[in-house]
Amino acid sequence: MRILGTLSYGSQWQFCDVLSQRSGMAKYSAFSLLKHAWRHHERWPAVWRTPEPKRAYDVVIVGGGGHGLATAYYLAKVHGIRDVAVLEKGYLGGGNTGRNTTIVRSNYLRDEAAHLYEFSLKLWHGLSRELNFNVMFSPRGVLNLGHSLQDMRDIERRVNANRLNGIDGEVLSTAAVQEKVPLLNCSPCARYPVLGASWQPRGGVARHDAVAWGFARAADALGVDLIQNTEVTGIRRRDGAVAGVETSRGFIGAQKVACVVAGHSSVLAAMAGLRLPIEPRPLQALVSEPLKPCLDTVVMSNAVHCYISQSDKGDLVIGAGTDAYNGYGQRGSFHVVEQALAAVCELFPAFSRVRMNRQWGGIVDVCPDACPIIGGGEVRGLYFNCGWGTGGFKATPGSGYVFADTLAHGRPHPLAAPFGIERFYTGALIDEHGAAGVAH
Ligand SMILES: Cc1cc2nc3c(=O)[nH]c(=O)nc-3n(C[C@H](O)[C@H](O)[C@H](O)COP(=O)(O)OP(=O)(O)OC[C@H]3O[C@@H](n4cnc5c(N)ncnc54)[C@H](O)[C@@H]3O)c2cc1C
Repeated sequence: MRILGTLSYGSQWQFCDVLSQRSGMAKYSAFSLLKHAWRHHERWPAVWRTPEPKRAYDVVIVGGGGHGLATAYYLAKVHGIRDVAVLEKGYLGGGNTGRNTTIVRSNYLRDEAAHLYEFSLKLWHGLSRELNFNVMFSPRGVLNLGHSLQDMRDIERRVNANRLNGIDGEVLSTAAVQEKVPLLNCSPCARYPVLGASWQPRGGVARHDAVAWGFARAADALGVDLIQNTEVTGIRRRDGAVAGVETSRGFIGAQKVACVVAGHSSVLAAMAGLRLPIEPRPLQALVSEPLKPCLDTVVMSNAVHCYISQSDKGDLVIGAGTDAYNGYGQRGSFHVVEQALAAVCELFPAFSRVRMNRQWGGIVDVCPDACPIIGGGEVRGLYFNCGWGTGGFKATPGSGYVFADTLAHGRPHPLAAPFGIERFYTGALIDEHGAAGVAH
């Protein structure tokens, strides 16, 4: 499994593709690694099958990102619903799941959000064992820096709220932050003086594509059909209920259709004649050349907008901001990257001569209150799980779990109930803007 984890970001897709050509399901263990080493690692079975789509399924999940795959897994595992297809227009995990900066935490301000993300964080801690797949979850702690008195007031408020919800959190002084991150510029003369930080020790990072692969493999083993290179082009309705989806490979019938397509949620909604209060925005990130270990925690700065961690391979993984306008271009742009790197150089002067390897963008789906939409709507049998915006990776297992429960029972899971689309009519918004530790 370590082999998967240490592949370069560039080569992982080809490797994944090669794996998906073969078939079968092996239990991964130290013993199986030794056994296959004996055979020069030439007889590993496929990680998942490549089935032809059937004419109809009980549930069709549109979108083979982490959330869609987790939903399929929990539907099959927890609810015994195995007549399920995941339709993905590209390759599994090729959307935001494979493009994010992998930060996992649960220190959200509002009770509803805090409970949902905390539920997910608890699942993260046992996920590799649950899936028999090393998702490389590394709870190395997350710092949210405060650069002004107002930042520090917000941090104190959030940490206190977290503690009332049983979520770990501390307010750190400048000295304590410096001790944790010796390379951080904590000088009082710094352009962005560090007045302190919030610290969530159980937060951290995970290997993003391993999460998609782990859920995919486990769902496939339970009988879920994972169908790649198949785009949903229409949603067919009959008598007020969903009847199935039109795809690039023909019509596929379904009793329930679950759309989990992140930045393309409005596009899918439009196919069913619906409108969602969502804006698709390119969000960018970049990675550096690999360095020796120098940063063993996650550092986020809301005010200057940059977040940074070091991958196991040694790259600095750096998150930038969203574009200021809506769009679907999954690419980087110099002005956004320049802004993020200027912040990195101010915070970490020692990184000023590090070379950057690659930059990219992903399309995130931003809701007006920076919280997701989970549940059904006007069309019977049609469900959406979207609006996770810039921070949905951390929610992957929890989102899949509560959405599967919602689909299985046809009513919202208690943790998902506050996140229904009705909140935009009733006004019961869950405002996580700013308070969530990200600037958008
Ligand atoms: C640069 C960047 C950094 C981020 N950093 C973090 C972070 O540090 N921490 C965090 O928690 N979150 C982060 N996020 C957000 C996070 O990545 C997303 O919220 C999360 O991955 C969404 O997962 P998903 O499975 O819903 O969507 P995706 O992984 O995007 O999956 C949706 C899938 O649907 C498919 N699809 C779309 N339309 C169709 C169609 N018509 N037919 C079939 N398939 C279709 C797409 O190809 C895609 O594979 C970041 C995002 C980006 C872009």
